[in-house]
Amino acid sequence: MADYNDLAELLFPDVKETIDDLEKKYPPRNLVEGAQVTRFAPSPTGFLHTGSLFTALIGHTIAKQSGGVFYFRLEDTDTKRTIEGSGKDLVDQLAVFGVSADEGWFPEGDKGNYGPYRQSERKQIYRTVIKELIRRGRAYPDFCTPEDLEAIRKVQEANKALPGYYGKYARDRNLTVDEQIERINAGTPWVIRYKSNGDHDKKTKFVDAIRGEIELQDNDIDMVILKSDGLPTYHFAHVCDDHFMHTTLITRGEEWIPSTPAHLDMFRALGWKAPKYAHLPVIMKLDHGNKRKLSKRKDAEAAVSYFLEAGYPPEGLLTYLMSIANSNFEEWMIATKDYDYHHFKFSMKKMSLDGALFDMDKLNYFSKELLAKENVESLEPKVKEWASVHSLVLFEKINRDESYFKKILNIERERKNPRKDYAKYSDIEPLTRFFYADEYAKLVEQGLPFNERYEKAFLASLLKDFASSLPFGVDEPTWFASVKDVATKHGYAISNKDYKENPDAFVGNISDAAEVLRVALTCSTQSPNLHEVIEILGKEEVEKRLLSLASSFEK
Ligand code: GLU
Repeated sequence: MADYNDLAELLFPDVKETIDDLEKKYPPRNLVEGAQVTRFAPSPTGFLHTGSLFTALIGHTIAKQSGGVFYFRLEDTDTKRTIEGSGKDLVDQLAVFGVSADEGWFPEGDKGNYGPYRQSERKQIYRTVIKELIRRGRAYPDFCTPEDLEAIRKVQEANKALPGYYGKYARDRNLTVDEQIERINAGTPWVIRYKSNGDHDKKTKFVDAIRGEIELQDNDIDMVILKSDGLPTYHFAHVCDDHFMHTTLITRGEEWIPSTPAHLDMFRALGWKAPKYAHLPVIMKLDHGNKRKLSKRKDAEAAVSYFLEAGYPPEGLLTYLMSIANSNFEEWMIATKDYDYHHFKFSMKKMSLDGALFDMDKLNYFSKELLAKENVESLEPKVKEWASVHSLVLFEKINRDESYFKKILNIERERKNPRKDYAKYSDIEPLTRFFYADEYAKLVEQGLPFNERYEKAFLASLLKDFASSLPFGVDEPTWFASVKDVATKHGYAISNKDYKENPDAFVGNISDAAEVLRVALTCSTQSPNLHEVIEILGKEEVEKRLLSLASSFEK
């Protein structure tokens, strides 16, 4: 009578290595006390999802803050979903965010001693482990066709039983080794299933590093671990990989919680110590009052590329994601005035569990804070690089006169309360259009928002006076004194008190006069510091704009 050894040899004749050999090849890592080995293990099925960046950021932060290792593993066993080139895109996008792995799969080749880091190149490792499971009677070949499985499903439906390949519904679970060998020799196609010892009426408990103790129904499904294409399923592959790569903490999405009992069961069957699991909350979105998962199909912001294209600084998005991760982050940031999330001590215990809501306003807030604090020398090259790919209009303007553009970008910067008007690089071009003569002319043509109460002749004379009286190259108080002089001459009150006491005696107050100047030069009632604007535009351009408007009002 044949035994499990015979079956294992028949199924995997070429596998000569043993699990022991693999243990020697991948010895424990030399780590300092408390160091965590985490990983980002995406499937190359498309773009970097915002939720995946969140997962990578948490894994990276935990590894870095504990003096450990963060590695990248490409989980490409689902060949039908694999998209060519997506592995490289994922690595490149992580690099843009500075969440790069210390070791792992890279487009130019593996880095590290625990590879290969691409699952499709690890076939022999999985086959070695499965051969051992077969020897131990903990895995078996299943010969069911899709039609057989469908028939089982129908019976289960009729019996009101739970779906799945388990217990008495696991048709090939109890075939004798002789029967198995006979079918294999007859060329019947097979897959390999894990033989679960679980009991659905019992519970499995485990401690999640974020959520604490979790109790779930035991797994009793005989999961497929090796598919007919010779590749393993995720469930089994991650068990082998996280074991031989010596992961200490698996940070993954909460959608994997239900299968964790099965994963732990496999670790036990192999006699391996399972790593800790930390199941991260998914990022949600408020949609017509209902909370739902950020969707790849429906939401542009589900793809990280959306933020890069809009010109959000990568640190803006990361800082925002860190604020979702730990509820005390923002408090820390305000208290320490430290806007670098790397300095924040992340804690798994402080992670919110009820599905963080993605909030664009909050992202804009963090982004504005970061952009406002950056000096122009470091900011300008980033804007230029972004513009070279995403905004040729802005790129052309930067190239026209880079030092002029820098002056514009530097308005109200490097001071105690810097101006916070840009949340993303794409906000810059529309807000600075008026600085460019050709764009200014177009804006004037569209009409200027002067207060309607002014007569044309009045505006013409006021603008002409401004043109001839305002000094250049002086400090702001000196300049403003001249603005006041001109305003007084034209009937404006220069003190608010005077104006309030007797509004009918004046054309308006001093801010109304400044508004006329602002509208004339910037085509808007809102602009950055007018004195800085005037200095950047320069005497010639300012006079040209004021006089040409004045003469248009005189016609
Ligand atoms: N490849 C799995 C996924 O993309 C990874 C889950 C894990 O990190 O273990 O969902």
